[in-house]
Amino acid sequence: MYLEFVEYTIAFFGFKSLPEPTLRRFTISGLAKSGYYNCEKLLGLSSESTSTQSVNTNTEEANFKRGNEFEEALLNTLDKSTTTDYTDTPTAQSKHVLQTVKPGQTLYQLSFEMPDSFYEDEIMNTNVYRLRRFIPDFIQVKEDPITKERVLFIIDAKASKSVHSSHQFQVATYAYLLSYIVQDIRNLKVDYLGGVWLPSDWKEPVAFRVDLMIPKMKHFYTTELIATLQSKDPEWIYNAKCKTCTYASLCERESVGTPGEIPYMTPHMIEAAKSLIPENKNDSLEELADNLKNMSIQKSNKSIPRFDDWQRIKKSPLFEPFYKSYSEKKPIFIGNPSTIISSGIEQEIYIVFVIDPTHGRMCSYSIKFNGLDFENTLKDYCTGSVDPSAKNKSDIEAYVILAANFSTNLFNVLLKMDQIKAKFSIFFYGNETKVAIQDCLCDLLSSAPKFIKNTKYCEEIVSNAKECLLNLFVGVNLLKLPDALFPDDTHLDRVSSNRMVVLEDLLRENIALGIPGFYKLEDIAEWMCEDTKSVSKHFLQSLEKDGLYNTWVLGETKPKNSSLEREKRYHIQVYGEILEKYRYLAQEYQQQQHQHQHQQDRTSSVCIFPLVCEPFSWTRSGAIYSNRLTRLIFFKYLELLASYEKLRTERLADLCSIAKKGLSGPTNGLLLEFVEYAQSISEARQVKSLVGHFRVVEQDLDGATKIKIDSLKSNTFQEYILVSANSQGILEIISYPDLMYRAKLRNLNITTMNVKAIIENGNVVVLSGYFKPLNLVKGTRYLLYRRHIDFNTDKVIAVLKDMGKSENADSVFSQLVEDPNGWSKQPVRRDLPVDIKATALRLRDDFAMSPSQKIISASTLQNRLQIVWGPPGSGKTEFLALFVNWYIAHIFGSCPETRPLVIGVTAFTRHAISNLLSRIASVQSRQGILAKFQIVSLGTVMGENMIHTKADRLPALIRSLHSKNMMAATATATAVVVGGTVWDWAKVKKNWPEWAGCDMMIIDESSQLLVSDSALVINCLNESNGRLIIAGDHMQLGPILQNEYPQMALSEPCLFGSIQQCLMRTVDNQAIPTQNFRLQKGVSNDFGPNTIQLKDNWRMASILLCFSLFCFDLLYSFIKNEELNEFFKQIYGNDFTARYPELTLRHDWSKFITPTIGRSQELKAILDPKHALTMTRLLFNHTNTSAANIEIETEAEVVAQIVKTHLMTRVEASRSQTPISKTKHSPLHVTTTPAPAVLVMVVTPHHRQRVAIQRALGDTQGTVVVDTVEKMQGQECELVIACFTYLTITKSKLDFLLDFKRWNVAVSRARCKIIIVTTDNVLQLPTHKDNSGLDVFKSHTSAEGWGFVCLLRDWAEKEESVVRWHV
Ligand code: SF4
Repeated sequence: MYLEFVEYTIAFFGFKSLPEPTLRRFTISGLAKSGYYNCEKLLGLSSESTSTQSVNTNTEEANFKRGNEFEEALLNTLDKSTTTDYTDTPTAQSKHVLQTVKPGQTLYQLSFEMPDSFYEDEIMNTNVYRLRRFIPDFIQVKEDPITKERVLFIIDAKASKSVHSSHQFQVATYAYLLSYIVQDIRNLKVDYLGGVWLPSDWKEPVAFRVDLMIPKMKHFYTTELIATLQSKDPEWIYNAKCKTCTYASLCERESVGTPGEIPYMTPHMIEAAKSLIPENKNDSLEELADNLKNMSIQKSNKSIPRFDDWQRIKKSPLFEPFYKSYSEKKPIFIGNPSTIISSGIEQEIYIVFVIDPTHGRMCSYSIKFNGLDFENTLKDYCTGSVDPSAKNKSDIEAYVILAANFSTNLFNVLLKMDQIKAKFSIFFYGNETKVAIQDCLCDLLSSAPKFIKNTKYCEEIVSNAKECLLNLFVGVNLLKLPDALFPDDTHLDRVSSNRMVVLEDLLRENIALGIPGFYKLEDIAEWMCEDTKSVSKHFLQSLEKDGLYNTWVLGETKPKNSSLEREKRYHIQVYGEILEKYRYLAQEYQQQQHQHQHQQDRTSSVCIFPLVCEPFSWTRSGAIYSNRLTRLIFFKYLELLASYEKLRTERLADLCSIAKKGLSGPTNGLLLEFVEYAQSISEARQVKSLVGHFRVVEQDLDGATKIKIDSLKSNTFQEYILVSANSQGILEIISYPDLMYRAKLRNLNITTMNVKAIIENGNVVVLSGYFKPLNLVKGTRYLLYRRHIDFNTDKVIAVLKDMGKSENADSVFSQLVEDPNGWSKQPVRRDLPVDIKATALRLRDDFAMSPSQKIISASTLQNRLQIVWGPPGSGKTEFLALFVNWYIAHIFGSCPETRPLVIGVTAFTRHAISNLLSRIASVQSRQGILAKFQIVSLGTVMGENMIHTKADRLPALIRSLHSKNMMAATATATAVVVGGTVWDWAKVKKNWPEWAGCDMMIIDESSQLLVSDSALVINCLNESNGRLIIAGDHMQLGPILQNEYPQMALSEPCLFGSIQQCLMRTVDNQAIPTQNFRLQKGVSNDFGPNTIQLKDNWRMASILLCFSLFCFDLLYSFIKNEELNEFFKQIYGNDFTARYPELTLRHDWSKFITPTIGRSQELKAILDPKHALTMTRLLFNHTNTSAANIEIETEAEVVAQIVKTHLMTRVEASRSQTPISKTKHSPLHVTTTPAPAVLVMVVTPHHRQRVAIQRALGDTQGTVVVDTVEKMQGQECELVIACFTYLTITKSKLDFLLDFKRWNVAVSRARCKIIIVTTDNVLQLPTHKDNSGLDVFKSHTSAEGWGFVCLLRDWAEKEESVVRWHV
């Protein structure tokens, strides 16, 4: 529907149609660019037959030069004996070159041209376009290790900071075209990987999967490109993305009368505009188009719009200010509460920064301070420029010296601000400037030592740059600095806005202007600055894009009064005027708002600046000896800050929503209405207390309220804050410094609550707390928010800092992270006699170990570090339990020991620890070795054979057990297995400082435990004897991270993820990235010398025995249900063996009552037991896809039908097939029903899907569990339905929804059958028009996920198990 609208709108307003297509000619780089902008108009413009040609600017020339220089420099670094330059080789000879190439060769600048047969056979159209000659920068010739074929690895060199989708497009196009060219060359093929060579790593290009992109390329060249070129109305919107496009001026002119007249217009906003049209109007789209057209007419003739609907659009908060701005020709203040700028700023600093694209470095800057009485030591204006004659030199010394000068000046300013505790902010116009300043400071850390000869001065420069970064740019990028740093004295207690204010963001958030596309500085100056009109045209030109750079190129930088200096001062003046005008408009708006409000309604008055500017206080850089530990400390800070920031953003959004819509709009806080006070009696202590009953106010239909109710936690941490449901209440919580109170339980300085229960079917929340300050009134509304609590980050940081002291330089944790392979091979001081080892190995059969379990047991005796890679259903916990019992019985029991043996056990969750301890106890009892060791649980009370104690009492307990054992007749040393969380182990260490540590530590679920948090438990390992076993599956969901962390070089360990991923290294101690999870034919997994995979798949239980019990009219199939396992062999290797391959679902279809909607064929096909993996494709009619939530509701309906049919016709097996412990209800919900066996698991990525499916299913009496993928990890069921029904996947959701780990967990829960419910839009994601095309390949996460989706899709098609369901 949206497409229809866009097509219509564009057709109506008319992009002036391109000339009748003749034969268009394209360069691959031109096409790649249009893909980057996702703009069909650009596609047309980039062909050379178009009359409008781009103009080469100074900037474009400089970028071109920079690219060429990088490419040439790269060529010089390559081995001359194996690299051949084909620059002068005629294109006609290139194919012959390829016929003769040998592995090991590198081909530089070999050019190609597609033959006519390509357009005839492949494109199937010879009349529309031709591709120009193309030249991949480098082609490395490799050899396929299995087939011994020659393989072409295609690389393009790009002088960029990171790989863009346009780079990937270019390389994938080369791969697609070369595959055609080499198809008839024997023994030669194109590699499944391609590469982009960046200046950040001169040794290795960044590699990515091109094979997954080939279908997209084929679709693009055979269908999309032709369709666009033949279309009279290509799609385009002139908006923010056009900033860097060559054709921006042209499109700005042509945007008149199109939706692009509204600045920063997006497809989402168009969608919003569409929703404003009354539903009963048949011709609504036409009228909307007219309305938008009229908006542009307003600009010229000021006429009043004619249409009724325009009145509606006008009233929309989204469009009304722009309409007003166009009609009144003045800036209009929108009225959003802002966190970009705070109130109470007393000092303003303005920065102008000019970048020279030739070197990608700053060539000129100015800093200006306002609002300060300056002493002689600090001027109020600092400035500097590189002599423009340096721009042509490859020598960059002049740039580095200028950067050092800038950094010193900035440092001095901050120093002064700290001295006077200034309330300041720094202003500049665009986000590009902010990024450029940060890059300049970061670069200085590595380039200053190369170019600044005076060592003392150089150290000072580096130190200043670091301090500036820490005080102004705290973020994930700093983790990549070669010399790591962390804020040692972070003022986490403050609630403040950023000091760095991007003026464009400020205007975009709150000022509506009659400017199409986006806010260019020159336009803003015209609208916002009164004095601008009086200056000369020359000055106005300097405000244009690259204006200052163009002036710098012209020379004349030295004189104080040079053109450049005057222009930079003029820029600063304009910034100041913009800010002044902004404040004036904000004040005017607030005054108007106050006049409109009654005195008694002040509680809902608008607050534009909810944050107050805090006095500046210097943050120093922490100093410890280890780079790795420093990064981990900084990582913990960043996670803490990000999780708090998330809460704060939600609160600010509520302030905005209440300001605009009152309580009629949805809120992030849970909206409650006070009902009554009641008495609550604590069962444990029989103490009466006062509680409040609050009715939940339903705010929406799509389940958001239920999601909020489900997420409530009952504890005694005062985790919730209750405030009045009005602006005053939300302002109170916005200014609450959560971080200051994050580890406190008392004196919290705000009204905090505990959730006691949720009653009346989820409609009433019972809260306990000190209600008095709120003076609760029956029927009055309140908002409940979560408080940010965190008792653990400080503990982790303290341990890491302690390890970072030079005297602890060789801690076990540091050694492990640095070189796990080396640590693993260290001799253990208390090693075992050879004969004991040999006997013990023979006795593994007593414990019925499988072959792979035996291999791991033997390896664990050889190495200090053993990583047990346990795929889904591989019996990882069972193996660990067998191993512990075997080790104690036959290794420790055979040694003459006098010292107690302590085996520590931990995991990410308490549930996993309890599970492992219970398994150990059960094997101990089965093997009859109860007397051999004690099991101790720290934390939860466990089974009969276990001792429960608190962490601080463990030392006394072990001492007492040991002395009892030694005094017994056998006088044997004690063995104990102790299970506790990492936090329990931190307490053990603290209370037992003289302790030598555990002899062995087992970390289960290690793929979910953060590296930083694992330090607490690895710190408890005996330094000379301790062994570490970690077990998990790094291909399932890892730890939940609040930030997206930068990709580090392979020589760096993966610090910002799980301990398992971090310790898995190749023999060369290189990190192992998760990409390439799909095994190439004939290749087996190799995750380094310390990792061994469990090869058994125990998930499928045998049901063969019960088959004879069924009568003949039962429609069931006996199948070898090896299928699921076969599918997973593609990921876990060919030797992943199904131990119970015969399991299948069984149905008695005589019990089936045909549903009224007549879907019996589809339902039977979906549940068909012949297929262990079925894909249900929901096919939506084009006309019904625009309804809100259509995919969620449809999916819920389909899933409900499948589940009900299964439950109706299912035939019971002779024993439970679903031994899962999860119950349907959260413990907070009051329920008396015991949990029944779960027969179906429904897995969803989003909570909204979960809620819709639960609603559609109704009461299934606990036989069906519906939950998110994260919650389902580690569980299993006979039938699993994985729900991935999406019509569109926006860019921001790609990484989440395409995360291959998420898909892997969802589909690997099944014991008998997995049903995937999805859409064609997902299955054809890169080629589907509604979706994000090349964005899929932008990150490793989404590219890997797409690879997994392809595997599933291809498998289902091959097995003919795809069921189409028309909606
Ligand atoms: S300026 Fe924008 S709309 Fe115009 S061609 Fe470029 S990307 Fe497309």
